Amino acid sequence: MRLRLPEERPEEPPVGHKVAHPVLSQDGTRAAFLGVSLGGREPYGVLAEARCAYGWRHRAPSRFCDCGFHCLHSRTEASGLVCTAEHRMAVLLDVAVLGAYIRFERGFRYGRQRVRSMTVGPCPCHHEATLLADAGWGRPGWRALEAACAGCVRERPALSPTDFGARAGEGLRVLGAASAIAPPPERSVPELVAEAALLQARLDWFQSQLARLTGPGRSQG
Ligand SMILES: [Zn+2]
Ligand SMILES: [Zn+2]
Repeated sequence: MRLRLPEERPEEPPVGHKVAHPVLSQDGTRAAFLGVSLGGREPYGVLAEARCAYGWRHRAPSRFCDCGFHCLHSRTEASGLVCTAEHRMAVLLDVAVLGAYIRFERGFRYGRQRVRSMTVGPCPCHHEATLLADAGWGRPGWRALEAACAGCVRERPALSPTDFGARAGEGLRVLGAASAIAPPPERSVPELVAEAALLQARLDWFQSQLARLTGPGRSQG
């Protein structure tokens, strides 16, 4: 007796969730994603077909190989992956699983996908990210990007998430995630007044020291 997996014929493509690193081509014209597990060597676009990660010339998904795209059924479980140190700067993707797939308890393995939306997390400083900035690493021809706020981007090359979406094409939706961790609280007026008074006192002391050093008789002209 041959055991066969039950076949599914869904009317709509199943939806899944995964994390990936946003990447920008060296010339800045194309945007794509880099997977975080097997197949993380080659970037994929919004609409993409998997190629065997081991270089075999078979279609994914194959029952005899573990290559192909992977995603999780649960968005919560996928977003939980960005808590790990190595995936902190990854973005969350909602994908449509196209063509044949193999269903597992926690997700799918499959050969074709469309990335429907990308959710950019907060800047590492926990403020809302308004930019995707050069993350300082990449793959040949591709720079990895990471979320950044206006304060943390500094001199790094960066583009807005909307511009990233335009370069990715195929109608990719770009969303921002509210920070799960509260940013440092805004300080109250009395706190700021107290700090200003302290700074003024330090400045007075500094000026008196300066006056003593450069005062009459010590002036260099
Ligand atoms: Zn394979
Ligand atoms: Zn920041």
